[in-house]
Amino acid sequence: MFAIKTLRSFSPATKFFYLRSKQAFSVMSRMQHAQVQHGETTAPFRPETPMAKTLMDIGTRRIFSEEHDLFRQNVRRFFQEEVVPYHAQWEKAGEVSREVWKKAGEHGLLGIYTPEEHGGIGGDLLSAAIVWEEQMYCNCSGPGFSLHSEVVMPYISHYGSKAQIEHYIPQMTAGKCIGAIAMTEPGAGSDLQGVKTFAKKYGTDWIINGSKVFISNGWMSDMVIVVAVTNREAKTAAHGISLFLVDSGTKGFKKGPFHIHNLCLNAVDTAELFFEDMRLPAEALLGQVNKGFYYMMNELPQERLNIAVMALASSEFMFEETRNFVMQRKAFGRTIADLQVVQHKLAELKTDICVGRAFIDSCLQLHSEKNLDSSTASMAKNWATDLQNRVATQCLQLHGGSGYMWECPIAKAFADSRVTPIFGGTNEIMKELISRNIVSKK
Ligand SMILES: Cc1cc2nc3c(=O)[nH]c(=O)nc-3n(C[C@H](O)[C@H](O)[C@H](O)COP(=O)(O)OP(=O)(O)OC[C@H]3O[C@@H](n4cnc5c(N)ncnc54)[C@H](O)[C@@H]3O)c2cc1C
Repeated sequence: MFAIKTLRSFSPATKFFYLRSKQAFSVMSRMQHAQVQHGETTAPFRPETPMAKTLMDIGTRRIFSEEHDLFRQNVRRFFQEEVVPYHAQWEKAGEVSREVWKKAGEHGLLGIYTPEEHGGIGGDLLSAAIVWEEQMYCNCSGPGFSLHSEVVMPYISHYGSKAQIEHYIPQMTAGKCIGAIAMTEPGAGSDLQGVKTFAKKYGTDWIINGSKVFISNGWMSDMVIVVAVTNREAKTAAHGISLFLVDSGTKGFKKGPFHIHNLCLNAVDTAELFFEDMRLPAEALLGQVNKGFYYMMNELPQERLNIAVMALASSEFMFEETRNFVMQRKAFGRTIADLQVVQHKLAELKTDICVGRAFIDSCLQLHSEKNLDSSTASMAKNWATDLQNRVATQCLQLHGGSGYMWECPIAKAFADSRVTPIFGGTNEIMKELISRNIVSKK
């Protein structure tokens, strides 16, 4: 089965993109069939990451297939052509172009894991993960495609009404409607039950007051999922929280006053959002009233897996960048790669990354089979993002002073890494979630 099933109503460019992959795949299938006829082995050996020439090689890892490899080649080309040349300019602007979202939509890179019958691409999780990884392999933290596609879209697809799904999903798959999710508030981050944004019912409408902070894709978003309290008297705060779909331009909804200036990750527009007597119709409620906290608990494991996968891929990128650097950099009449202390450091880094790779691939497989539990997803996020930061520190060190210069890719990767143990739930909270399972008496 081809990893991405649909050609539906996509542009000629998208169709070309898939057909090219599909044609190449059918040639390979014929070659394999010919091998069977001659009594040769059918399944080509796929080396695992430690055996591959580089940690970013295509054609590796048993969880993927040749179809995925072809898809990866096209995704890699997309990032090289449509993202890398513009990324520095987007970082200065604090946001990417709208055009790149539409191009990603045309190429079928958004909503991959959203069912086709809902207006998504209907591909598998591993194809979605290829887009996450390739974005890290080119060291470009923006655009916030994965947040839009595999964090925001699933809420609508899983809990939305037919009308909400039909209204938002096709537009989001096409890159014409950018999505964000607003949980965090100035007074509530780790403790989501401390949310104060309040939605009061007036007849069938809702009036919302409150504010959100640090919202990725927030500035450019056309639609935001807003977390709000709907029952202040509930037996616990978690029983009184609901989710709302809020369109940009709704009266009483303000963004800004400017992009939040992050330590890094500056091509992802991060914004503050304000709601002042914002009136929403009943149809803006996502799913059932007071079920919002339950929905978030269901969806957060996928968000954490997404962060873990990107952190691991970023570690692989930093390793390869550093390997190239030390093999060229000269000191004391030879390259620094000739120094045993450097070789041992690279050996340690490669071993750590490959051990992490085995765990993250296993989590990807578990989630593909819908078996990834919250505790394991938290372990993945905690482990992979800590690893990413250790790798970033060591790789920057191996670059010497050059690594500290902004023009050096490792400097940016180092700064980008710093956020991953914080967002999506801090790593301290991940440990809380993991340990609950360990000491549970049930
Ligand atoms: C770049 C960026 C993008 C973001 N994007 C989004 C987004 O799109 N949508 C969104 O809703 N949010 C987003 N966030 C917010 C992010 O999820 C929160 O920052 C994060 O959950 C931590 O919350 P906080 O900042 O309020 O920290 P706090 O909760 O105030 O935590 C401060 C410190 O206390 C520790 N701590 C808190 N409680 C405990 C505990 N029980 N046990 C042990 N330690 C504890 C934390 O681990 C942390 O070290 C983003 C943040 C950043 C920086």
